[in-house]
Amino acid sequence: MVLADLGRRINSAVSEVTKSSVVDGNAVDNMLKEISNALVESDVNIRLVINMRKKLKSKIDTEEKPGVNNKKIIQKAVFDELCELVDCGGVQVYKPKRKQANVLMMVGLQGAGKTTTCTKLAVYYQRRGFKVGLVCADTFRAGAFDQLKQNATKARIPYYGSYTEVDPVTVASEGVQKFKKEKFEIIIVDTSGRHRQEKDLFEEMVQIEDTIKPSETIMVMDASIGQAAESQARAFKESSNFGAIILTKMDGHAKGGGAISAVAATKTPIAFIGTGEHIHDLESFTAKQFVSKLLG
Ligand code: GDP
Repeated sequence: MVLADLGRRINSAVSEVTKSSVVDGNAVDNMLKEISNALVESDVNIRLVINMRKKLKSKIDTEEKPGVNNKKIIQKAVFDELCELVDCGGVQVYKPKRKQANVLMMVGLQGAGKTTTCTKLAVYYQRRGFKVGLVCADTFRAGAFDQLKQNATKARIPYYGSYTEVDPVTVASEGVQKFKKEKFEIIIVDTSGRHRQEKDLFEEMVQIEDTIKPSETIMVMDASIGQAAESQARAFKESSNFGAIILTKMDGHAKGGGAISAVAATKTPIAFIGTGEHIHDLESFTAKQFVSKLLG
């Protein structure tokens, strides 16, 4: 089920219970069941759904009072619990600081949208007045540097890369050094992906991370991969201590639920969502905004 349908189903479950003249326990249970089913069908991990259902029920049970407008209480409880589900316990995303070098290292599997997201992120910060540079440390995929160069040129972002150096650690390190020397404030390092999670990829990630010591590592993940998102994020988290997630392709038929589970499994917040192929299609993420939009 795509996110828009999930929102519609939750909304209709809530309005079903709130439009009846008496809000009885049975009606509330039916609502909880329908919301849970909708979340599971959107690939949210079943443990998370059961947990949320319990919390939602106890919140409604304790806050409901005779003679009070219980419908508002139910609506608010559903909204708050959904926020909590995507909020990752309020863990804060790294905020780049002005007038110093903030190194952002991007990791993720090939095809997730990493290179595209690097440019989007560069444009996002450049528009906010930061001096931003892009480093292509993907020496694995032929054409990776050309892709980054093309995007960066179009967006007028300075870039660094090499056609001859094969060691990604060297390229990453040289690029970061160069931009640091030139007083760049945000240095975004694109690293290589692979078709699947494999030892070489994780070793390379660790080596680059150890060398350039990023201020923040960000995992880029395709939101449309469903339940695979959770195990993918866990596997990456073992090698790379990423502190934020960017979910791409949220404009497509993404169910998004798998990604929500990945956030919970790795206790890592979502920083941005990608909403299209254009360089401006990047939105900063907050749980409240996301849930408001989901519920229309
Ligand atoms: P990488 O291999 O991870 O570097 O992936 P790329 O940046 O090359 O992106 C793979 C494909 O996904 C490209 O066709 C991008 O245009 C597309 N893409 C990336 N982000 C988004 C997004 O947010 N929405 C949509 N619809 N497509 C995206």
